[in-house]
Amino acid sequence: MNPVKPCPECGQNNLFATTTNAGSGYGPMLLPKLGGFIVPATFEVVVCADCGLTRFFASSEARSKLATAKKWVRK
Ligand SMILES: [Zn+2]
Repeated sequence: MNPVKPCPECGQNNLFATTTNAGSGYGPMLLPKLGGFIVPATFEVVVCADCGLTRFFASSEARSKLATAKKWVRK
């Protein structure tokens, strides 16, 4: 897991996390070409219960594909 504490906005540690798909058939694919053949890549979503700051972290599997995925350009 990424070092998510403390919250970079308010400095508190009242954080909650879940894992969710980075796309579906009804919306944009937010991590294109970084998932499996059928299953989309996933995010760990971290929400600060005090200030509401919400952060999305691409899974380690998705990040491992960035360097070779054609959709992604190094900046
Ligand atoms: Zn916060």
